[in-house]
Amino acid sequence: MPLLLSSSERAEHMAILCKLYPRSDMRLRAEVLQENTWTAKVVHLAPLAWNVMELRLRPERLYPYRAGQYARIAVPGHPEQWRSYSIATPPTEQGELVFHIRELPGGVFSQWLFQSAQIGDDLQLNGAQGEFFLRQDNERKLLCIAAGTGLAPIEAIIQESLSLGWESPIHLFYGAKKRDDFYHLEELAALSQRYPHLQVTPTLSDTGDTGWTGARRLLPTVASHGQWRDHEVYLCGSPGMIEAAIDLLLSHEVPHEHIHFDAFAPNG
Ligand SMILES: Cc1cc2nc3c(=O)[nH]c(=O)nc-3n(C[C@H](O)[C@H](O)[C@H](O)COP(=O)(O)OP(=O)(O)OC[C@H]3O[C@@H](n4cnc5c(N)ncnc54)[C@H](O)[C@@H]3O)c2cc1C
Repeated sequence: MPLLLSSSERAEHMAILCKLYPRSDMRLRAEVLQENTWTAKVVHLAPLAWNVMELRLRPERLYPYRAGQYARIAVPGHPEQWRSYSIATPPTEQGELVFHIRELPGGVFSQWLFQSAQIGDDLQLNGAQGEFFLRQDNERKLLCIAAGTGLAPIEAIIQESLSLGWESPIHLFYGAKKRDDFYHLEELAALSQRYPHLQVTPTLSDTGDTGWTGARRLLPTVASHGQWRDHEVYLCGSPGMIEAAIDLLLSHEVPHEHIHFDAFAPNG
């Protein structure tokens, strides 16, 4: 996936390993990192949409993370299986962690969450990971593109920029397939009323929904909204959406180093 590497990274022979296949025998050396584990209690469960649940956890001790990063959670009853979920809020004084979790047919973790999880259950977490966080070395305008539960880390990043008092324009494009898939539309509308520099554009890809008067199709809508060259860009959603969005942004002359993303790949 050459698009995901800058020319200097390619010159240093860096590679996206999940996209490579060995052509001959090879010797690998792995450094095993000692990972910290937290026990966290389920303190709140609430449906956000027909297939999305808000899960709120209270870790036993301070859980350090940056807004936009994700946690790995052990699947209850399958301690060798871990699933990655983005944290949907910046760090708070209460120390609770909020997640937006999509139900997947046959999904080991999400089925447990939707069918069996109870307030008071304990989960095991690994330390926060990822390079998807608000870049604080500049106050460029923000372009945020979220699809489905990709909204979770984007909300955390936007909340953080608001709490820093930044006033550069933020444009959030939030895509869903069907109208029922949207969640937090009212909360986002209220936030953009409170912070007029935040503009939110929901987009729907279901062409059969003739009653929808808003924007259609996520990336064409982003493309039609103008110049993104001078924006810092945050993308989150399916790997296909991310790849297409990067193509689009590079064609709009957004520098590679201003594009940040997390792809919600299956990790079962
Ligand atoms: C860094 C990162 C952050 C993530 N954050 C979130 C988040 O905040 N919210 C969220 O809902 N998800 C998130 N995901 C995706 C989530 O971790 C995976 O979808 C996970 O596999 C779901 O676990 P499960 O046990 O429910 O399903 P699994 O048992 O892993 O999979 C069940 C079936 O669904 C398929 N499947 C799994 N994931 C997907 C997918 N994303 N799209 C299509 N088919 C899939 C599998 O191939 C399998 O057939 C994130 C992924 C990554 C890598």
